[in-house]
Amino acid sequence: MANPSTPSAQPRLLLGCIADDFTGATDLANNLVRAGMRVVQAIGVPDGPLGADVDAVVVALKSRTIAPAEAVAQSLDALRWLQAQGAQQVYFKYCSTFDSTPQGNIGPVTEALMDALQCDFTIATPAFPDNKRTVFKGYLFAGDVLLNESGMQNHPLTPMTDPNLVRVLQAQCQRKVGLIDHAVVARGAQAIEERIAQLKAEGVSIAVVDAVSNDDLLRMGPALAKLPLLTAGSGVAIGLPANFGLAPSSQASALPPAGGKQAVVSGSCSLATNRQVQDFVQRGGAAMAIDPLRIAQGADVAAEVLSWATPLLDKGPVLVYSTAEAGAVKSVQGQLGAEQAGAMVERTVAAIARGLVERGVHQLVVAGGETSGACVQALGIAQMQIGPQIDPGVPWCHARSDAAPASGLHIALKSGNFGSDDFFTKAFLVLG
Ligand code: ADP
Repeated sequence: MANPSTPSAQPRLLLGCIADDFTGATDLANNLVRAGMRVVQAIGVPDGPLGADVDAVVVALKSRTIAPAEAVAQSLDALRWLQAQGAQQVYFKYCSTFDSTPQGNIGPVTEALMDALQCDFTIATPAFPDNKRTVFKGYLFAGDVLLNESGMQNHPLTPMTDPNLVRVLQAQCQRKVGLIDHAVVARGAQAIEERIAQLKAEGVSIAVVDAVSNDDLLRMGPALAKLPLLTAGSGVAIGLPANFGLAPSSQASALPPAGGKQAVVSGSCSLATNRQVQDFVQRGGAAMAIDPLRIAQGADVAAEVLSWATPLLDKGPVLVYSTAEAGAVKSVQGQLGAEQAGAMVERTVAAIARGLVERGVHQLVVAGGETSGACVQALGIAQMQIGPQIDPGVPWCHARSDAAPASGLHIALKSGNFGSDDFFTKAFLVLG
């Protein structure tokens, strides 16, 4: 697959991305693919060189809430690997709700990357209007309310009590933080570039940039072309591929042809996933629930599920789920402890996912963020090529796994609240 900007003789990475969590990495990769880039997501920093000819790589870390020094070390490790692949521009991706503690990790990681790249200016904008995250006058809105009224003020790990991102980021940074406000963004790329020059002259090194619409993000794109480092949510990505001469195309999301049997495993207990399980069952799909209490009693639930599923796999997709409503989850957590119950269910669902793939399932949907992490690990997946979108934020991917044949498998990782009610049926139709 030749690409005008990446001569096939010497593949050169256009954009190297570092994401601070797993499903956030997929979200970014999905936006880049939709804007025309061929993208691979790596699970952690790869051991060796990139084995694929792609435009962008997103290295997925789990660095959002770890100690700042450790987040910096992991991010620099990812940067060194991306530089070794020839990355022309670096993108540090964090959450669209700017999830961070007073110590970081957005500020410390940004400054460490700036030091390493000898970069004297970068931006910071979590705006993702498609997901109702907008930034105006430096204030972050989630839906119709300010960040600190959105529920994020009560987040267990990263409570966000100040919606003013200039203040929040300044508290985490040594460098001076400023603002490129909407009046400038609305005037377009040249006005943004002039404002960057002005801020630099004033000693500002990092600017929060307002954006309330995709048009703002697209206007921003050309003004960012020359910056070695960008820091943002996934929204800014939509304006970048055009800087490299790339336009949206179905080629960007092309995956090898899909084959094999089909299954869904779900460890998510979100409202959306509960509706999706119910929808699949109501349509007459073959489905089996996992009872966490039986796992706790020592029953080999994975083996039971696999012997139930094996004869059914020829007839169509099967669904295996621990998904339950809030009351049932609370009751299980009360008996087993929340962390213990979670880890136990994750291990079981991941063992089932692996068993299904070994039994010929090569189209697998996984529901749940943590559950996805456990399944990807159990399947020994190191990287995923990003393909067509099923629903916003959830693409099909193609991956190699030691549980699958050499042709690999197709896998879709759905974080809890994503996807329409018929997601578990619709997903397989997208692969055709
Ligand atoms: P989401 O993306 O919806 O947050 P996750 O997979 O990230 O989904 O988190 C769901 C957590 O709940 C996982 O740790 C999972 O193992 C756990 N879990 C799943 N089903 C149950 C259940 N029936 N009772 C208790 N915990 C459960």
